[in-house]
Amino acid sequence: MEKKQFQAESKRLLEMMINSIYTQKEIFLRELISNASDAIDKIYYKALTDSSLTFDQDSYFIKVTPDREARTLTIRDTGIGMTQEELENNLGVIAKSGSLAFKKEHEAKDGHDLIGQFGVGFYSAFMVADVVTVITRAVGHEQGYKWESTGTEGYTIEPWDVAETGTEITLKIKDNTEDETYDEYLETYRLKALIKKYSDFIRYPIKMDGTDGEEQTLNSMVPIWRKNKSELTQEDYEKFYAEKHYGFDKPLKHIHLSVEGAVTYRSILFIPETIPFDYYSKEFEKGLELYSNGVLIMEKCSDLLPDHFSFVKGMVDSESLSLNISREMLQHDRQLKLIAKNIAGKIKSGLQSLLKDEREKYETFYKSFGRQLKFGVYSDFGAHKDQLQDLLMFHSSKEQKLVTLDEYVSRMPEEQKYIYYATGDSIERIEKLPQTELVTDKGYELLYFTDDIDEFAIKMLMKYQDKEFKNVSSGDLGIDADDAQTEEEQQENQDLFDYMKSQLEGKVTSVKASKRLKKHPVCLSTEGDVTIEMEKILNAMPN
Ligand code: ADP
Ligand code: MG
Repeated sequence: MEKKQFQAESKRLLEMMINSIYTQKEIFLRELISNASDAIDKIYYKALTDSSLTFDQDSYFIKVTPDREARTLTIRDTGIGMTQEELENNLGVIAKSGSLAFKKEHEAKDGHDLIGQFGVGFYSAFMVADVVTVITRAVGHEQGYKWESTGTEGYTIEPWDVAETGTEITLKIKDNTEDETYDEYLETYRLKALIKKYSDFIRYPIKMDGTDGEEQTLNSMVPIWRKNKSELTQEDYEKFYAEKHYGFDKPLKHIHLSVEGAVTYRSILFIPETIPFDYYSKEFEKGLELYSNGVLIMEKCSDLLPDHFSFVKGMVDSESLSLNISREMLQHDRQLKLIAKNIAGKIKSGLQSLLKDEREKYETFYKSFGRQLKFGVYSDFGAHKDQLQDLLMFHSSKEQKLVTLDEYVSRMPEEQKYIYYATGDSIERIEKLPQTELVTDKGYELLYFTDDIDEFAIKMLMKYQDKEFKNVSSGDLGIDADDAQTEEEQQENQDLFDYMKSQLEGKVTSVKASKRLKKHPVCLSTEGDVTIEMEKILNAMPN
């Protein structure tokens, strides 16, 4: 028998996980059941392409068996099983160090349930068990194996006679301590409740022997996206969101689609409330889960989401896709492209209805992801502006809150020619800008651009409802002022201006009398398309 140590990092993580992170020990059952379900999925998938296998629905199930006397809980599945090598690779190495660092950083704050994110689900068993025994035989193999571990001490693997293919995981449930009791994980009623709570949509029967000895199936098995909207509650969607590890927040909105026609698919999409910790980093991977007729074929199908909606979480199930399709083929799949296009449209209208009907929620959303929408307007030479322009918001001088461009334009006085905006690091700083005076004195509304990307995005739009955008620090503001007086001042002070210009040689192109100032003596302005703020940003960019 071989005895092996966990990798060092795994060991540290394991200790931490068992001792501190999880406030909810009960999720171990969800993790083990979802692994069992994954294992059956794998065999189902294999059977579709491998003619030596047949998938007989009835012979695939998960069985949960508590034994109070022996203090064990067993979860058996008829899935794909593991070879010796797979046992080593899958159960011998836990998460990578990057995740470990993240865990360390966050555990103190909030004890979030992080399991699914890091592929450490299996190890959650050690929260409730002293010893975990895995007896398994892989499909197509004669020899079975027994893997056993007490957690941090490492593990053993030895050949084992196993009658049927699949995996059986036995937990030796911990003894109660002064602060913790573990007895509940041996109680039938408690286990049933946990299965209903976390694993109701598992597509294979989860069975348990009832008190009368009769075997019962505990889960309803119909995936939520196959149900009618009318059968589902807000809570069901939130449960699904949490179960799928889409995020630790509660979604702001869900969009449940059942589309038939040129493309046929079902989908549930979520607009999250908060930004994933890695959202604006290279590590973030966008994508939706992709199912073909109820079977998962890809966990993160990035082709289903445009970058500007990369924050959307959820899944798509379509019968029009073939199951054994490779990633490369999928990229060129016409059906998939149609679905993606259709979905982008639904996300847009979903966001618009959030904006219209639940303004506060939309603003919460916008604070998290508005920047991504603005990047979207700017990227690909403005190709997506029609999809995005109505979703943009900026801080308004008049309303002192975020307003849409439509709201701005709809209250413009007749004679106002442009949509005015001013840029700066913060609202407070923009308010102090001398350049804003003429516009606000006129009673016009001014948009405050405090995000680097704002002005770039707007330049890409050029116009909104036929109104051009105008930076208050640009040359001609299109506001009538007393031209004659300015002209007079210009001539009277020509010598002074020439002197000033010579002193500022190379820094300014001209010094002129301005008609836009009221209280301030002087301001900077630009001519041409690139404004001062844009110049600053462009200069700061690495070449
Ligand atoms: P994840 O499920 O996120 O990959 P886990 O820690 O839950 O991470 O499981 C690790 C791996 O162990 C799985 O990816 C799978 O390869 C293997 N595994 C776990 N449970 C089973 C099982 N019941 N049958 C077959 N393989 C399993
Ligand atoms: Mg898992």
